[in-house]
Amino acid sequence: ARLGARVELRGVQAVRDVSLAIAPGETLGLVGESGCGKSTLGRMAAGIMAPTSGTVRLEGRPVMSPGGTKLTTRVQTVFQDPFASLNPRMSVGEILAEGPVAHGLTTRENARDYVAGWLDRVGLDRSYVGRFPHQFSGGQRQRIAIARALAMQPDVLVCDEPVASLDVSIQAQIINLFLKLRRELGLTYLFISHDLGVVRHISDRVAIMYLGRIVEIGTADALYADPRHPYTQALLASVPRLMTEDAVGAEFAPIAGEIPSPLAPPPGCPFHTRCPAAGPRCVAEMPDLVPTGAQRVACHLYTGGVELAA
Ligand code: SF4
Ligand code: MG
Repeated sequence: ARLGARVELRGVQAVRDVSLAIAPGETLGLVGESGCGKSTLGRMAAGIMAPTSGTVRLEGRPVMSPGGTKLTTRVQTVFQDPFASLNPRMSVGEILAEGPVAHGLTTRENARDYVAGWLDRVGLDRSYVGRFPHQFSGGQRQRIAIARALAMQPDVLVCDEPVASLDVSIQAQIINLFLKLRRELGLTYLFISHDLGVVRHISDRVAIMYLGRIVEIGTADALYADPRHPYTQALLASVPRLMTEDAVGAEFAPIAGEIPSPLAPPPGCPFHTRCPAAGPRCVAEMPDLVPTGAQRVACHLYTGGVELAA
């Protein structure tokens, strides 16, 4: 039986005071504009990057040592660009066998069968084992990258924009593959995307990030039906196609105003420079993430208003 996973994240620079827990078997979608810190958060969750403070834990155990060494194989990653992430000089068989052999999940003698089993899982032909990455389409390469991650037998998969570089028709196929794999293997996903349609399709819960902070988090149903944070509202309003049947590929249009530098965020609420509802309290005071409706929201509108107390 596979164990579930619990990932908790805390702290750092590009990501500030974030605390997230993902339940075993759950898919948490992480949404935000480019540069908001979502990839940084994903890299920390995956044990690729150390938080400057705080820890990332999987079932209570740190995924990284204080010295920055990854301590577990049970969190694996799938990145946006499968071409960049696959070594062009290695065959598919070598790419998929490398990690599992090194970690004793299979032996060199059995590696070919082991790899073939994972190719089956992701819908690729076993005969591809001797081919090289350049012989495949983008969608096939992403399947290879997914098989490579799965061959490490993870409990948690961190997926950072895993369909962003694919054609829309291929995106839907890969999303369906993620859904199938979750059912079959009981995987937990941290699914990072700027595509609100994709995220809605795959996520149980969704977290919205702005300048390194989670500004709203809740079930996908609640958050899409009744967004509370002005930033979430602006994101959803910028994608009218979300209200129609096939929203995969729906990216949000830029929201008015410049995104401030994540390294020098504005004081108070980081969204106040772009928020239509901002008031003096927003400049002076950082809102906490507090229960609001069915979700948690970081906005003064829900905790006494945007005016300064008299
Ligand atoms: Fe807008 Fe103020 Fe709420 Fe921030 S706290 S989102 S600036 S209303
Ligand atoms: Mg990114």
